[in-house]
Order: sequence, then structure tokens, then C-alpha cells
Amino acid sequence: SRAFAGRRYAVLGLARSGLATVEALVASGAGVTAWDEREEARDDAMALGADIGNPLEIDLVGFAGVVVSPGVPLNRHPIAAHAREAHVPVIGDIELFAEAEGDLPPHKTVGITGTNGKSTVTALVAHMLESAGVPTLMGGNIGLPILTREPLPEGGVYVLELSSYQIDLSHSLACDVALLTNLSPDHLDRYDGFAGYSASKARLFSLQHRDQVAIVAVDDDPSKMIASRINHRLHRVSGKDIDPVDQARWPALQGPHNAQNAVCAIAVCRVLGLNDEQIERGLATYKSLPHRMELVGEADGVRWFNDSKATNAASAAPALAAFPPAPDQRLHWIAGGQAKGDGLAACRPWFGHVKRAYLIGEAMETFAAEIGDACPVEKLGDLATAVKQAAAAAEPGDIVLLSPACASFDQYKDYEQRGDAFRAAVQALGA
Ligand code: ADP
Repeated sequence: SRAFAGRRYAVLGLARSGLATVEALVASGAGVTAWDEREEARDDAMALGADIGNPLEIDLVGFAGVVVSPGVPLNRHPIAAHAREAHVPVIGDIELFAEAEGDLPPHKTVGITGTNGKSTVTALVAHMLESAGVPTLMGGNIGLPILTREPLPEGGVYVLELSSYQIDLSHSLACDVALLTNLSPDHLDRYDGFAGYSASKARLFSLQHRDQVAIVAVDDDPSKMIASRINHRLHRVSGKDIDPVDQARWPALQGPHNAQNAVCAIAVCRVLGLNDEQIERGLATYKSLPHRMELVGEADGVRWFNDSKATNAASAAPALAAFPPAPDQRLHWIAGGQAKGDGLAACRPWFGHVKRAYLIGEAMETFAAEIGDACPVEKLGDLATAVKQAAAAAEPGDIVLLSPACASFDQYKDYEQRGDAFRAAVQALGA
């Protein structure tokens, strides 16, 4: 993009999106000084045309920005102070996208944030638009790095999944439609408590212009609070507005949390001009993302769901809520891993849905204590053992659900690897 030509940027963190940023900046005529602790990553950046240098050790005066990957914890990392001294903004790739938007053919940008449901709503909105024939690109936390993608033709829609870190790293992103799905405690290690985290989400709306549209799902109090402070066009939506009869027609959008996700996606697509028929078709043909209530096997009348993406109690709770007990359907719940601060509190209302819990990972003891005698508990250590035990206990009609309410890092590289291990173990059962 012309917006970057002749400027110099530092890029810190050269994983996939960092390297994509280097590539895009170099291609548009900017100078790049790149750094990563890993030497191979530095070599990759050099091959793309970057100079190599640690931004902490160079004078940043005159740089147009320091681009950091969302993985860099700015509240603790010294780059923040070093850049501030040189009056250089610390930004993310989404900010670069926003700065270059003026060079793109006329388009709309949708920004989607929230504690849970971001990926689902982003993928759902993109799917609804695509199936209505609108040129669409997904970016941000999902899909391929947005900067290296071929720009959309006129009339296209960029649908961005935005973590609070990406919002923190942006100051010129003004979304035509900005959405907050919900808000509950998560990632508090990187913020000044809940107030800081919530302020970061609210910023997505303060960056909007007066004629742009805010959508907030007001199913929780923190989200209501944020909505009450929005002074431009605002639509309040609620998962309660979805008719269960309608929802029954959308196979990949079951459970109360998906009513909220659906109502959010519907509101976005209405603002973008889709009609009822296009919206219904999108909802009915949407397929769930891997690791999010993904049906990974069915054998002997038992259905196995991989919800490895549920890395905190707030996102595991709706998975439990989705399976109320019935005479011919009992829920077997595999949970545990590396616990987050809020423990299992958000899941407590649904313990009654659980026939038996199979606990793994570091959180095993604390989870067992939290569940108490709400349901029978087995402490099994690892996923393979849990799958074996659940297979032995489950009867026809039952559900086995991996919804860990924990991060995966005690036993896996990431939640995807954990979900893949679950899928493989289930398939090995012959399911
Ligand atoms: P995110 O991208 O915000 O992490 P996802 O859409 O990937 O969210 O969903 C992650 C997990 O959170 C899902 O597996 C599901 O259990 C749970 N979840 C999804 N949508 C919601 C929602 N609206 N409210 C609460 N939990 C949700």
C-alpha cells in the first residue's frame, strides 16, 4: 500500500503474522528493521528484505511505528517505554491495515470482539456474506494475515476478529460495524484487572466515527455497561431474542451460547444489507469451526464433541448448558489442563447436567475439589486415559464432551494440538 512508502518500521516478533507484516511493508516500499529471539525467524525476515536489529537496542526516533505481535505482553515488556521515549507508536498488523484502508477499493470493515464467541461470530458473518455473494475476507485472530491478502474488489467486506490486544495496538481502526459479543473475566494477567480489560474492549467503539454502527449483546452486566456509554448508532441484541424453533434449523449453532452468537451475526449482516432469506440460508448452512463443539465421532450411539477451544470456565459453561440431562442422554465431561484464575465458577450452574466428570492436567485436584459431590469425579491425569474411561462408561444416547475450561500448555503446544489428540483418540476407538 502507498501509505507505507518511504517510512521505516520496526517489527518485533517474527511468527506467521510478523513475517507477513515484513513482507507487506517491504513490498509497499517501507524500510523494515525486524527482530525475533529465534535466529531462524531473523533469517526468514532477512530473506524477505528486512534489516535485522533489536528495537530495544536501537534509537527509534524517526520510525513510523513499532509493530509487535499480539503475543508480546505490553504491560510488562520494555519495548513500550522505549518506544514512548522516542515518540513512536506501538502498533499491530490491524493498525497497519487500518492506515492503508484509504488505498483499498470502497469496502466495509467489521470488527468483532468479546471474551467468547469471537471466532464463531466472525466465521459465521463471513459465511453468511459469502453465501449471499458478497466478496469477503476474514482477518485478525482468524484466517491468514490480512496484510498479505489480495485486496477485495469494490463492495467487499473485511471481517476482523479482534482480541483486546489487537485493539490496544490500534488507534486508527474505525469499523463500519463494531460488535461486542460478551464480556467476562479472562486474560487478567495482561491487564490492570477487569476495568483495564473492559476498557480495552470499549475502545473498539470509541475508535468509531459518528455514522458507524455499534452492536452490543447485552446478556451480561459488563456489556450492558459498555453499551450505556456508547453515543453513536447502537443496536442492543440478546441471545434471548432467538426463537428456539428457528435455532433448531441451524445444526452447527446449538446451545444458548450459539443463540447469542447467531443474534450477533444476524445483527451485523442486517446492517450490511442482507435480507432475511440470505441470513436464514447462511445460518442453516454454517459448519462449526474445528475444536468448537465439533462432532468428532459417533459410535454405539455415543456422540463425541471436541470443544478444546473452551480454555476458560466462561466458555466451557455454555457447552455444558447445551446438553441438559434426559432419560436417554447423559453427559460425560472431560475437563482440566492448566487452570485460569476463575477456576470453574462459571460452570457451577451446569454441574447438574454432568453424569460424570473425567479430570486431567494440572487443574485436576482443584477441579475435583470445586466439583465436590455435585457429580461423580474421576482423576485420570491425561486425555488418553480419560477417553478410555468415558468410552467404557458411556451408554447409547450419551454425549462425551471435551470442554476443558483450561489452557492446554501443561500438556500440549496449544488447544488445537489438544483437540487433535482428542479426535485421534476418539477415532482410534472406532468411533
Ligand atoms: P473466541 O474466538 O472468542 O475464543 P470461539 O467462538 O472460538 O470464541 O469459542 C470458544 C469457546 O467458547 C467455544 O468452544 C464455546 O464453548 C464457547 N463459546 C462460544 N461462543 C460463546 C458465547 N457467545 N458465550 C460464551 N461462550 C461461548
